[in-house]
Amino acid sequence: MLAIHGGTPVRDGRPWPQWPQYDDRTERELLAALRSARWSVSRHGPNGGKSRERLFGAAFAHYNGAAHGVSVDHGSSALVIALEALGIGPGDEVIVPGMTWVAPASAVLRVGALPVLADVDPETGCLTGEHIRGLISDRTRAVIAVHLACTAVRLDDILGVVSDAGLRLIEDCSQSHGTRWAGRNVGTFGDIGVFSLGAAKTLAAGEAGVAITDSTRLYERMLMLRADSRGYTTHEPAPGEDELVEIGTVMGANYCMSELTAAILLDQLRRLDHQHALRASRTKELEAGLPDIPGLAPIPVPAQIDRRAVYEYGIQFRPGTFGDASIESVAAALTAELGTKIYPPRVPLHRSVLLRPETKPRFARWWNDAAARAAGRPFPGADHYRDHTLLMHHSVLLGDGGDIDDLLAALSKVRAQASSLTAKGMA
Ligand SMILES: *Cc1c(COP(=O)(O)O)cnc(C)c1O
Repeated sequence: MLAIHGGTPVRDGRPWPQWPQYDDRTERELLAALRSARWSVSRHGPNGGKSRERLFGAAFAHYNGAAHGVSVDHGSSALVIALEALGIGPGDEVIVPGMTWVAPASAVLRVGALPVLADVDPETGCLTGEHIRGLISDRTRAVIAVHLACTAVRLDDILGVVSDAGLRLIEDCSQSHGTRWAGRNVGTFGDIGVFSLGAAKTLAAGEAGVAITDSTRLYERMLMLRADSRGYTTHEPAPGEDELVEIGTVMGANYCMSELTAAILLDQLRRLDHQHALRASRTKELEAGLPDIPGLAPIPVPAQIDRRAVYEYGIQFRPGTFGDASIESVAAALTAELGTKIYPPRVPLHRSVLLRPETKPRFARWWNDAAARAAGRPFPGADHYRDHTLLMHHSVLLGDGGDIDDLLAALSKVRAQASSLTAKGMA
């Protein structure tokens, strides 16, 4: 009997790896920041020197092979300053994938531009060149490409479309820290790469974000955009001296990262490659076993990806693999067998309650026109992805090989007994 109906679960109660991960070194870094009496880049410290948020921005840029990095308080803020640095605002349109977290669409609204939702590839959930091409108008200025879950946008496919149309490209790498495409990290192919460093992400600090770029001009603009029009002094700050000076060539707001957050990130960044390697071994074992279960397959990964970050590992199933069962009931049954959450992707943005610009006066004025254009437009790729993909958090892949045996056993068991689950539309 399935665990969800009172049977014995596959997993014997053994705990899954905890997330986030930290140890004595993290505590030392955090205490050092606390005791330094410098909690913000905006306030000088008694000891002088560069802020931790500046050191993290540089370290993260270096990790990715980019020239510059700008630390911010959220991935959402990184999207906002990236759009602003590129000069995008009222009257402009930005193409955003329909299958993603709401932030790429809301960031476009926050700069006064219009997000135009694009359908996505049904197997990867990512934007394609064809989807972009179909939506380009004479107002289109940029594309936000999201490298989703455990795969990446086909950069070979979209880069040509974007440059042919003279558009700017922002890569949202919030789910792909350190993914490499043909030897180069994602986030360095577009004008700007943005990353969330939120609590669940593979590089996590609770609430934080960062943007990387090779352009010194965009870097200097992003510094001001996130620090109330201020940038760094050109020299190392002396004790008691401010590190930020008023420049004001572009007006900003305050999206600065706290020094305590930066301390955690400087520690976490040093763990990232080891965690990537662990997840890669577990992923390999899982993908060796998946073909034994009819109807199941991993989310496809383009051959050019020579290292991938797994944020959420996705398994796809052919229609009918779980009979008539709804994806919610399959996910709930797997969760009950395993004692860790297995879940469907989020509802795509074209029907998500998180994207309701008409409820905010500031957005409502220009949203109507877009809403009218989007009305009735189908999103078959996003809908298929949402209804045929099962996700798990990357921390599930940070344990040992026994965890993979449990995952495979649970998938087999639920597939074999899917007829006892709730059918689609039966709630
Ligand atoms: C998490 C996430 C964000 C938002 O980041 P915050 O740090 O929560 O603002 C943006 N884009 C994508 C694709 C994400 O997954």
